[in-house]
Amino acid sequence: MSNYAARRAAMVENQLRARGIWDERVLGAMGAVPREEFVPRRLRHRAYADSALPIGGEQTISQPWIVAAICQELALTGGERVLEVGTGSGYSAAVLALLAAEVISIERDPELARAARRTLARLAVANVHLELGDGSLGDFERAPFEAIAVHAAAPGPPPALVDQLGDGGRLVVPLLEEGEEMLVALHRHGERMTRATIAPCRFVPLIGEGGFAEA
Ligand code: SAH
Repeated sequence: MSNYAARRAAMVENQLRARGIWDERVLGAMGAVPREEFVPRRLRHRAYADSALPIGGEQTISQPWIVAAICQELALTGGERVLEVGTGSGYSAAVLALLAAEVISIERDPELARAARRTLARLAVANVHLELGDGSLGDFERAPFEAIAVHAAAPGPPPALVDQLGDGGRLVVPLLEEGEEMLVALHRHGERMTRATIAPCRFVPLIGEGGFAEA
C-alpha cells in the first residue's frame, strides 16, 4: 500500500467512521479519491490532516469529515444528477462523482475552476461538468436536481437553489444565521420543505445573488 493509500484508509476509519459517518458508499468514495492530488504540492504531506487546507485565492479544500457529512446527508444511491456549488479544488466533486450519475459543479473563481478542471481530467473523472459562474443562482437549464450541495456559507437557503430542487430532493447548505454557522439539510416533499441541522461548521462565504455581496 502506498503511503497516501495508508493515510487515506486511516482517515476513513479515524476521522469518518469513528465520528458518525456510516454510509458505506460514502466511506468507499472517501477511501478512493486521492485527496493529495487536490491540494497544493507544498501541502501534500498534510493532505489527510483532519482539517481544511488553503488552495489559493483565499479559498480552502474542506475538511474530510465535512465533505463526507454533506455527501451522506444527500442520501445518494447512484442514479442522481447532483448540483454542486463551490467546486474549489474539485475534491468534493470527485467524491460526488463516485456517488451519483452526474455532477454539475459551479465555481465563481476562474483560476480555481481551471485548476479543478485540469485535476479532474488528469484523474479521468468523466461525469463532472464544471461551469464558471454564480452558483447561488443554480443552473436553471439543467434543473431540477435530485440533490444539491453548497460548499460556501449563505445568509439563508438561496431561493434559486430551493426552486431547482426536485421532489424528494435534498439541499445541503451551510447557513450563517445570527452569528452561528450550521450545516443544514433541506428536504423537499412537494411544495413542503423540512429542515434538519447537521453540525456546526466553518465555510468561506457564498458570494453572489443568492449569497453575500462581495466585500
Ligand atoms: N468543495 C471544495 C471547497 C470549496 S470552498 C473542495 O472540495 O475543494 C468554497 C468555494 O466556493 C470557493 O472555491 C469559492 O470560490 C466558491 N464560491 C463562493 N461563492 C460562489 C458562488 N456564488 N458560486 C460558485 N462558487 C462560489
